[in-house]
Amino acid sequence: MNNRQLFLQHVAQTSDAPLALEIVKAEGMYMWDADGKQYMDLIAGISVCNVGHCHPKVVKAIQDQAQQYMHLLVYGEFVQSPQVSFAKLLTDHLPNQLNCVYFTNSGAEAVEGAMKLAKRFTGRTNIAAFNRSYHGSTQGALSILGDEYWRNAFRPLLPGIQHLEYNNFESLEQITSQTAAVIAESVQAEGGVNPPNLEWMKALREKCTATGTLLILDEVQCGLGRNGTLWAFEQLGIVPDILILGKALGGGMPLGAFIASKEIMWTLTNTPVLGHITTFGGHPVNCAAGRAGFQALLEEELIPQVKAKEQIFLQHLKHPAIKAVRSVGLMMAVELESFEVNKKTIDYCIAHGVLTDWFLFAAECMRIAPPLVITEEEIIAACKIICEGLDVVTK
Ligand code: PMP
Repeated sequence: MNNRQLFLQHVAQTSDAPLALEIVKAEGMYMWDADGKQYMDLIAGISVCNVGHCHPKVVKAIQDQAQQYMHLLVYGEFVQSPQVSFAKLLTDHLPNQLNCVYFTNSGAEAVEGAMKLAKRFTGRTNIAAFNRSYHGSTQGALSILGDEYWRNAFRPLLPGIQHLEYNNFESLEQITSQTAAVIAESVQAEGGVNPPNLEWMKALREKCTATGTLLILDEVQCGLGRNGTLWAFEQLGIVPDILILGKALGGGMPLGAFIASKEIMWTLTNTPVLGHITTFGGHPVNCAAGRAGFQALLEEELIPQVKAKEQIFLQHLKHPAIKAVRSVGLMMAVELESFEVNKKTIDYCIAHGVLTDWFLFAAECMRIAPPLVITEEEIIAACKIICEGLDVVTK
């Protein structure tokens, strides 16, 4: 059996039609398959490789740290300099009240930790989340996931969860002094790139403050420069009580975090029961990689270029089959007629060396979320292939 056959036989699948491309190398904007074919990556591992694949400084940081030490002891017991310096770097770039970082293995684990923290801090049990939101696949994260069809398969889920309408002012009335936390994506990603109404976001912040409810913003997908500012909430004019990060945080390695004030975070520590424990969360090699990736993101001044690159995409994504393009920086959803048209166009793009896909809750939308290092020439070349694909598929 070849590797592809072995993969289908022995590696658990998450879909009944996996892409099953065998990639042997990735660098910057590109990946290469086992036959040497090159793919321009418009997905960035779902918003992971913001500084590009295998950034040399990230690779070097991994090598250096792996030679020093890897795993020592369960999270939070030893002083590990990669964790300390990355937490310091992150908090130096955050508003004062977000000054304490809990590193996790993944975005979903950070979501779980944030929900537990909100329950402990407020002494309340109810959590409100939004329709069309995605926060991960673990049981707690699944309970708040904003799609009934997905949730139904795994009931019973967590009790005390309310699902509200994103961007809907009336929905905010359901937030009360019983609500421990409201969790929202700063820009809904898997819902097909839905940015919040700024007035609504402000009202949400005010309602949370008035009811003593913690506001949790999930920036796992939209944070770390993708939206054109380091943090997506900078464009919303509000600050969350808890910020959730993941994906790009590890520079390509698995790393998530929930970040709050020391005062809030302390309630997870100062508790008669176990607060949150993780063996590998904040792994020193991953923190070293994350810190190097974060430094590269800033040093290479990638974030100030994001909005201009978004405009180049918008100029070149012109085709009668495109119904709309929703974008916030380099997080874009190209809305097409149907999933069928989208899937065929995606297949055309992949066959022609451009990697893209669709969104979990918006299958008719093509995802464009490339590494932020993408150049003008690459954007134009990618848009040309997408439009050619649409010509072929919709002719
Ligand atoms: N929140 C958001 C907004 C996400 O997009 C994702 C992953 N797609 C998660 C949380 C969960 O992250 P992970 O897959 O690392 O658990």
